[in-house]
Amino acid sequence: TIKGKVFSFYSFYDNDLRNSLMLEKKIENEITTALKEKQLEVHIQPKVNMKTGQIIGGEALVRWNHPHDGYLYPNLYIPVLEKSGYIVDVDIYVWTEVFQFLQKLIERGVTPLPISLNVSRLHEYQKDFVEVLCCLSREYKIPPNLITLEITESALAEDSTFLFQCMGKLQEKGFSFSMDDFGSGYSSMNMLKDEPLDEVKIDRLFLRNLGNSKSRTVIRHIIFMLAELGIDMIAEGVETKEQEQFLLECGCYKAQGYLYYKPMPLVDFEKLL
Ligand code: C2E
Ligand code: MG
Ligand code: MG
Ligand code: MG
Repeated sequence: TIKGKVFSFYSFYDNDLRNSLMLEKKIENEITTALKEKQLEVHIQPKVNMKTGQIIGGEALVRWNHPHDGYLYPNLYIPVLEKSGYIVDVDIYVWTEVFQFLQKLIERGVTPLPISLNVSRLHEYQKDFVEVLCCLSREYKIPPNLITLEITESALAEDSTFLFQCMGKLQEKGFSFSMDDFGSGYSSMNMLKDEPLDEVKIDRLFLRNLGNSKSRTVIRHIIFMLAELGIDMIAEGVETKEQEQFLLECGCYKAQGYLYYKPMPLVDFEKLL
């Protein structure tokens, strides 16, 4: 009967909802322990110059080495941590590990390369965002020009006044800003002219359909526009030689992707250097 159908629909929906709520609760309950017991690890994915193959830097990506569930990837828990506010603790943990790592490299006489840090929605950090980064740079004696802050396009679209203030202050100290996942949201073009960006990371979604001539036209013009605006650019998610070839032809020389390196533990990144 109709009634039965409605009922089963609701119970199905209800189960789904309950599972996702349970997952959220589980993540929220376990993240504090994870931070205390060092279950969170920082991996770095090298960035390369496609013309020379040289490594030019890296991006720090968090990994949760869960005692029962194995390696957990950020897309599962970052949204939950953003909702509950725990993301701030995780980000600061990751940043601290990176500053510490850079300090160790310098002490051992290895020339460090610039590292990008992912930054969550800015209002999460309240007033401390600028202060935390300046403190870390002082404490570990890391010149801010070794640090790039990646903020996603959608997070950049949110708090403009506070954001501009923070970006200005940090850029004055020497930190750089990169717009992550460029092109995956909806307000990217406006932000390019309004925000003081040092770099744009072209979302990997653009590289998916290079067989299609319209897709090629879109990328070609994005690259052209960024070059003319004087904004540095890097393509993310480069997986094939064809994608590399096309990007080089268009004038984009920097990339991050499985074609070159996957994200790796800090010790492995150090060996590469
Ligand atoms: P993102 O910042 O855009 O990072 C790039 C993501 O693309 C990483 O996924 C990386 O492993 C993946 N990737 C790199 N090359 C390729 C490729 O060639 N093919 C494919 N298919 N994927 C590639 P990951 O590590 O799973 O991170 C996902 C997202 O989670 C990140 O996207 C970032 O937004 C967020 N995230 C990661 N670590 C942190 C963190 O410490 N703090 C915050 N706030 N967010 C983080
Ligand atoms: Mg990123
Ligand atoms: Mg990205
Ligand atoms: Mg992305």
